[in-house]
Amino acid sequence: MKKFCTICGKPMDSDATFCIECGNANKGEYKSGIHINDDDIEINRLAITGVVLSFMVPFIGLGLSIGGLVYAKKHDDAGKKAAITGIILSSVFMTLWFVLKVLAIILQK
Ligand SMILES: [Zn+2]
Repeated sequence: MKKFCTICGKPMDSDATFCIECGNANKGEYKSGIHINDDDIEINRLAITGVVLSFMVPFIGLGLSIGGLVYAKKHDDAGKKAAITGIILSSVFMTLWFVLKVLAIILQK
């Protein structure tokens, strides 16, 4: 079990009486699994890359976002929302892209 500062949310030593990050004299609070760790940052990067790519290359953006969502579900981390956003955006842009392609073909005739 890790302990977190009740003011700034930074991890504290389990026997610490004040926070070394913000100096707040609190006993902290015990939490599990909702702090940002390296895995979360990694998955957020993947999901955010998915969101960004969904504007430019929807196919790759969708793939990355689905990968991000699968990972986020497995680890129950904070990347879930970003991954879902990426999937929705990629789907929308993919549909738009498809519609525009079809329209271009129709208009060429
Ligand atoms: Zn603090």
